[in-house]
Amino acid sequence: MNIVVCVKQVPDTAMERTLRAEDSRLDRASIDGVINELDEYAIEEGLRQCEAHGGEVTILSMGPEPAADSIRKALSMGADKAVHLVDDGLAGSDALATSLALATVLQRIGFDLVILGSESTDARMGVLAAMLAERLGVPQVSLASQVEIDGQAVTIRRQADYGYDTVTAALPAVVSVVEKINEPRYPSFKGIMAAKKKPVETLSLADAGIDPAQVGLGAAATEVVSFASRPPRQAGTTVKDEGDGGVKAAEYLAAQKFI
Ligand SMILES: Cc1cc2nc3c(=O)[nH]c(=O)nc-3n(C[C@H](O)[C@H](O)[C@H](O)COP(=O)(O)OP(=O)(O)OC[C@H]3O[C@@H](n4cnc5c(N)ncnc54)[C@H](O)[C@@H]3O)c2cc1C
Repeated sequence: MNIVVCVKQVPDTAMERTLRAEDSRLDRASIDGVINELDEYAIEEGLRQCEAHGGEVTILSMGPEPAADSIRKALSMGADKAVHLVDDGLAGSDALATSLALATVLQRIGFDLVILGSESTDARMGVLAAMLAERLGVPQVSLASQVEIDGQAVTIRRQADYGYDTVTAALPAVVSVVEKINEPRYPSFKGIMAAKKKPVETLSLADAGIDPAQVGLGAAATEVVSFASRPPRQAGTTVKDEGDGGVKAAEYLAAQKFI
């Protein structure tokens, strides 16, 4: 089974993130990059499916040079190899361009199953799985909290407000996963050492056969037109309970039209 896990390096959510005034893009240079948290679940699921059914796990990441650190971490968790799409011409790509670039590489490397996190913690669009599936002409099964592969089909439990739906699709397919699906493993010392020798293919736009005119900020079909800082948090109202706390709480909720 040829499993490809898409991994994005994102700015550490524990750090203060700002948008750049000149082009409304996230300032990524001043913040440490980490693997998008949901992608760790995607990697873990890829490894588990590979352990159950054989084959290999390839990590695919599009991003500037520092994304190599996240790729290396994914390899130290146990993935077999990686492809890193890196080119200055990709900077400023929107979701359409990102999906075009990743789909082009996926067509080149081949796949039975593509696994993604359900969303990134920086742009949080949650659209990449659907866009990839459409571009690749394969089914998408999204928001999986369980994945089972049986011969030529993949069956997932699709997380929903009311519980879950069971959805089956023929392989090859694209799956996005939620954090309930598993508990990602920590890289072992042996894994970290082994990762240093695992193959990482670095592709430029030209190597991948991607038209530079179709990616990057210049080709973006979407744009951030304005942004503003969130207003500082107001001090809350403190109500002293003098035996009538419940009434006061109810009055407050009624005044806010919550009840
Ligand atoms: C005008 C504009 C400029 C932008 N400039 C930049 C920029 O310079 N740099 C930048 O990083 N973003 C930039 N973005 C945001 C970028 O478009 C999105 O990050 C990208 O489209 C993916 O959307 P998402 O992260 O919300 O993906 P989601 O759909 O939320 O992600 C779902 C999953 O897709 C996979 N995935 C997402 N992105 C990648 C990737 N790059 N490589 C591998 N797997 C991936 C992961 O598995 C992830 O969990 C820009 C957006 C706009 C509108």
